[in-house]
Amino acid sequence: MADIKEREASRKFQATGDRDYMKEFTEGRDAPVCESCGFTIRRQPDHGTAADGSEIDQYCTVCYREGAFVHDATDIPDFLTKATPDLVKHWGGSVGKTKLTLKKQLPKLPRWQ
Ligand SMILES: [Zn+2]
Repeated sequence: MADIKEREASRKFQATGDRDYMKEFTEGRDAPVCESCGFTIRRQPDHGTAADGSEIDQYCTVCYREGAFVHDATDIPDFLTKATPDLVKHWGGSVGKTKLTLKKQLPKLPRWQ
């Protein structure tokens, strides 16, 4: 009896593990998300930089460079106006679609809490 329970427990554990793996796989493994614009930082040149020039995972290069925010925005509409052209230039896509995505995503991000 104990054996069956143990096997079932380990099978459950594995199923959860697989699902988490798939989630990570579909969302991009270990890829940090910019806490200002929400884009996934996948490539080396996507990373923002600290004051000393070192790469950070917290923000992307469009939003944060050399220890400061690139766009001095006080709220989300302000950020959309100032940053959308730069975001589109770096990440691609259209201005309209990017703005729509940002409007949905930004309220969830730490910078805008
Ligand atoms: Zn960003």
